[in-house]
Amino acid sequence: MKAPSMRGAPLSLFNSMGRQLGPFTPLSPGKVGLYSCGPTVYNYAHLGNLRAYVFTDTLRRVLRFKGYDVTHVMNITDVGHLTSDADEGEDKMEKAASAQKKSVWDIARHFTDAFLADMDALNILPPHQQPKATDHIDGMIAFNQRLTDNGHTYELADGLYFDTHTVPDYGKLAMLDVDGMQAGARVAVTEGKRHPTDFCLWRKSPTDSTRLMEWDSPWGVGAPGWHLECSQMSIEYLGAPFDIHTGGIDHRQVHHVNEIAQNMGYLGDGAPGAGTWMHNEFLVVGADKMSKSAGGFLRLLTLTEKGFHPLVYRYFCLQASYRKPLEFNWDAIAAAHNGLKRLYLRIEELLAQHGGAEISAKGDWQPRCDGPLKPRIEALDGAVSDDLNTPKVMANLNQLLADNSLSTDDALYLVALHDRVLGLNLLTTTAADLQPQRTSGPLSAEQVAVLIAERLTARKDKDFARSDAIRDELNAAGVVIKDGPEGTTWEWQVG
Ligand code: AMP
Ligand code: ZN
Repeated sequence: MKAPSMRGAPLSLFNSMGRQLGPFTPLSPGKVGLYSCGPTVYNYAHLGNLRAYVFTDTLRRVLRFKGYDVTHVMNITDVGHLTSDADEGEDKMEKAASAQKKSVWDIARHFTDAFLADMDALNILPPHQQPKATDHIDGMIAFNQRLTDNGHTYELADGLYFDTHTVPDYGKLAMLDVDGMQAGARVAVTEGKRHPTDFCLWRKSPTDSTRLMEWDSPWGVGAPGWHLECSQMSIEYLGAPFDIHTGGIDHRQVHHVNEIAQNMGYLGDGAPGAGTWMHNEFLVVGADKMSKSAGGFLRLLTLTEKGFHPLVYRYFCLQASYRKPLEFNWDAIAAAHNGLKRLYLRIEELLAQHGGAEISAKGDWQPRCDGPLKPRIEALDGAVSDDLNTPKVMANLNQLLADNSLSTDDALYLVALHDRVLGLNLLTTTAADLQPQRTSGPLSAEQVAVLIAERLTARKDKDFARSDAIRDELNAAGVVIKDGPEGTTWEWQVG
């Protein structure tokens, strides 16, 4: 039976479990529980991380568009992971704290705030719950206790370990050849570890020193292993099983594989916790993925300092399928800036024609889906239902904006509907908002205005040498001047 609140075409999503595109069916009709792996707050989010959250936000918007009532949970990892996926290396939080001579708590607070500001700037809907790992240590200890009671753990000198041979199909998500794996092939051999894929659930603090973040537990003073928090918090906030779990493609290999093993051990029903596992591909720079630990990464601030509006980055991400690697380069960002500006300008024209009247049934497709707009609404629905095909949604939007047979009201109604999925603030942000704002540079906006007025006077006086010299001075300061029939306009050059 079709769920009562589901709209339009069946929603098809790519499930990394089994690697197939298939119809999505929620566990409870009309409701979706969505869990996303959140940031580790030992550094700023780079543009690659933000691609992961634009993807999750798009998924949430599409689910809402399809009529589902979504509960979105995203954790904040404020307890140290080790610098490698495989439980080795230094603790990321502690490393950042000692490098910056701050407490781990200050580091976590600072980078959490910076992350939330980036999310807001990108118009990413705030998750309904954003639990922090450090607020859930008791829950994680209880989780480990149950894993131990269920016979999935063993203790070594340095911590409590999960025995990956106690659950069926370990590594199915990553398509791991567990039997063919040699100890040390993927992870360094830890003394006493039963299998190379076994992983740490609780890391004991070294006996000769104290860690900056550590807690008492039945396995000694220490800190949780890095996969534990997502199993514990997803089940605490969404119950088990829940519908969809998201993360970047790197999580398909280790983190989510181990989460699934933990969930199976904890729930004891052979189920992986979530029904659908979805992963976004990487943002890449040249041949490499953008990464935090490698250093030299680009932030949203890097873009805005160059004069690009944050929504240009959202637009840039939406131009590609979330399942394809996306290559970052400045030409592509400049092209996204121009594309978004054209979109805003066209919509501003429509809004001007509309004269400020209310747009009928703004953003809700129900009242109009049987009328003459049906094919356009079906095209939008078809695109989003095809595994969040945002490039197609953008193409559909551009087509309808070029269709002069649509009434202004109908066109604006469709724009609002497309924007429910795209989240580009199409009816409220203007091309002028995309104008880069400069806070530093050789000239202030006031100085630019004075020079432009001076240039105008020079031109009137036919002093072309002076007007050209001013133009050169402005160009050198990154100001682009446009002389049009209605006078001279200017903007900061982007990029
Ligand atoms: P982290 O803060 O390192 O835990 O990562 C936060 C999210 O960003 C995770 O879902 C990662 O899988 C994802 N991620 C990391 N690097 C990239 C990248 N270059 N492109 C897209 N997603 C990424
Ligand atoms: Zn996670």
